[in-house]
Amino acid sequence: MKLYNTLSRTIEDFKPIDENLVRMYTCGPTVYNYAHIGNLRTYIHEDILEKTLRYIGYNVKRVMNITDVGHLESDADDGEDKMLKGAKRENKTVWEIAQHYTDAFFSDIEKLNIKKADVVAKATDYINEYIEFIKGLEQKGYTYMANGNVYFDITKVENYTKLSGMDLEQLKTASREDVSVDVHKKNPQDFVLWFTKSKFENQAMKWDSPWGVGYPGWHIECSVISLKNLGEQMDIHCGGVDHIPVHHTNEIAQTESYTGKTWVKYWWHSEFLIDQGGKMSKSSGEFLTLSLLEKKGFDPLSYRYYALNSHYRKQLAFSFDSLASAENAYLKLKSRVKNIKENTDDASNITELSEAAVKYKEEFKNCLEDDLNTANALTVLFNLLKAEAISNNEKIKLIEDFEQVLSLDLLKEDKEEIHDEMVEYIEEMIQKRQEAKKNKNYQMADAIRAELLEKGIALEDTRQGVNWKRIN
Ligand code: AMP
Ligand code: ZN
Repeated sequence: MKLYNTLSRTIEDFKPIDENLVRMYTCGPTVYNYAHIGNLRTYIHEDILEKTLRYIGYNVKRVMNITDVGHLESDADDGEDKMLKGAKRENKTVWEIAQHYTDAFFSDIEKLNIKKADVVAKATDYINEYIEFIKGLEQKGYTYMANGNVYFDITKVENYTKLSGMDLEQLKTASREDVSVDVHKKNPQDFVLWFTKSKFENQAMKWDSPWGVGYPGWHIECSVISLKNLGEQMDIHCGGVDHIPVHHTNEIAQTESYTGKTWVKYWWHSEFLIDQGGKMSKSSGEFLTLSLLEKKGFDPLSYRYYALNSHYRKQLAFSFDSLASAENAYLKLKSRVKNIKENTDDASNITELSEAAVKYKEEFKNCLEDDLNTANALTVLFNLLKAEAISNNEKIKLIEDFEQVLSLDLLKEDKEEIHDEMVEYIEEMIQKRQEAKKNKNYQMADAIRAELLEKGIALEDTRQGVNWKRIN
């Protein structure tokens, strides 16, 4: 497989370190707010990468962190704690905020048919390991203390900017947020490994450490979680392009200083989804979520289809018009597949593909192996649907095969409409349950919930009332 490597800035032949297992790490979400559809674009392409690797025969172990510890608006020692900001906004504890948005994230990725990572690790579950890691760096002379915080000294590493290829001056302006100068740093790019002091008050998540009560810096979680779960070296590290100049650069600096080894073989980055206002970002407060698309009547998988029509290394300018045309094309595709399916005998009878069919499979695979050209892979699918030399049975067999990567529910039966009587019944039951709860008859309330669940209806209690949805 050919894969672009940010580190070498070229397309390379992919060869894993251990031929039997691809070790892969994905920077996970910050959970102080919903994921926006830009974040989700990155996760969709990462899903394609993982599924392509599996499709072509590799075993994959993929690890993802959940950034549930509050992080500053910027890398500098100022700004506001994001988790605390979310908690204040919603009148919840920081832990509740983290749990709520973690659940929301997993619900989003499930709707997009994104496979969950094999290991999902919460940043706050690794505090002792961070402390050990920082102690190790301290012993090797990579750190210094200033104003109560432990900093990493970037002048101690050779070729600190090897990932971005920038010079330090360029880096200053390429930082994720507007980095104001922290007077305690020796160099502007130095970063905090452990905070005991910051300019804002009331940091809610704090732990004891040899340097005082405080909390870890942002970059450390990915280094430590990957070392613990994937070992000292891995094949692919993924994330959005915004992570190149600071987050991933700092991850490399500290990890390679700690182990003395090259850490990651291939650095993989997905380009941004941009909206009319330019970059979509969580901290700006205004962004599009998957539930907003759903509220507007879009099927989440139309968004997946939309993303697959773009190349992961190209920016994608979002508009509702372009999403609507993607949905149109997606629904047509589904109905064509349905048509073919209705005109087959049992596709599972096929044990061996014809020569002509094998060609389509090869072509599909070639597109994905060509630095994940999903748009071309979809074209192969469209060509297959038209192909006269291939029987409907074989077409269905191939679509099943392609779906291992595409995951567009092309062969899934549409859910039956829920008829009016059923809706009436559900609403009656919800009403009964509310009354039971009011009368503190929780046993009855739980029994009603269980009964609905049995019928495939899940209830969700929100501040606005009770929502229900079908789960199978
Ligand atoms: P965050 O939750 O902000 O840490 O971001 C989660 C993932 O989404 C990271 O891999 C980011 O690099 C990526 N990301 C952030 N903004 C965008 C965007 N507008 N388009 C695509 N990916 C993004
Ligand atoms: Zn990371």
